[in-house]
Amino acid sequence: MSSFDLSGKVAVVTGANTGIGQGIAVALAEAGADIAAVGRSRAEDTATKVRALGRKCELIDADLSSIAPVEGIVSHVVDSLGSLDILVNNAGIIRREDSLDFTEADWDAVMDTNLKVLFFLCQAAARHMVGWSNQSGRRGKIINIASMLSFQGGIRVPSYTASKSGVAGLTKLLANEWAPRGINVNAIAPGYIATNNTAALQDDEDRNRQILERIPEGRWGDPQDIGGAAVFLSSNAADYVQGHILAVDGGWLAR
Ligand code: NDP
Repeated sequence: MSSFDLSGKVAVVTGANTGIGQGIAVALAEAGADIAAVGRSRAEDTATKVRALGRKCELIDADLSSIAPVEGIVSHVVDSLGSLDILVNNAGIIRREDSLDFTEADWDAVMDTNLKVLFFLCQAAARHMVGWSNQSGRRGKIINIASMLSFQGGIRVPSYTASKSGVAGLTKLLANEWAPRGINVNAIAPGYIATNNTAALQDDEDRNRQILERIPEGRWGDPQDIGGAAVFLSSNAADYVQGHILAVDGGWLAR
């Protein structure tokens, strides 16, 4: 059996209805995992793709702007799919405004979804995983979706940059705490990926040209590019990878 094989594993993916979340859910299903697609928009299209691969897909409605649904998500997944082996914290939002004019509401909205709820989902999943991890080599895997703005400042996105820097730091802390408990905690930092989130940039001819000139690979990333990294970090091949922030950015940060 390939060390990348995820057969028999159950993966929770937040924000799986579209974009990077859908790319990750389909890639994990291709590798053999059953999927719980969690979000406020029902991931019917993702479920169709996952089921076409012969895998189960449970749809869980949850607004991840607060921690209220977190405990229920984990118990629902374990009840309906029998386990929770992999958590991918993908759901995220962005607000753009000059820092001089940035509002408390926009600060709180981004920090709550991108960082606070992400932490409590990690906690709830890890409390389940420590019940069985380290038994016969079985390990829990947590993957947080960070950003290039986990490493760089950006502009006019103060809460987003703070939240994604926080995701990187938190990922390292949780890896420190939970590695001895048989859980791997890592993050993926996507570069410019073509999704609804970045549609305005792709449609702006000048900005799009500047972006493409700056990316060594010379193209926008595809959600499947992130899916491949998620399969690796979810698999036994990554059992010795801890607290790593894996840039999948076509070389952007190398420049
Ligand atoms: P999209 O806007 O296409 O998708 C975001 C996902 O998050 C959607 O499924 C959305 O659900 C979900 N979501 C947002 N808020 C909530 C909420 N309150 N409750 C439940 N679900 C929620 O973005 P991308 O696919 O581009 O981004 C996915 C992740 O990747 C984000 O964390 C983003 O920050 C990160 N990222 C993206 C990059 C890119 O270039 N695209 C670059 C770097 C990082 P709904 O459809 O219902 O709004």
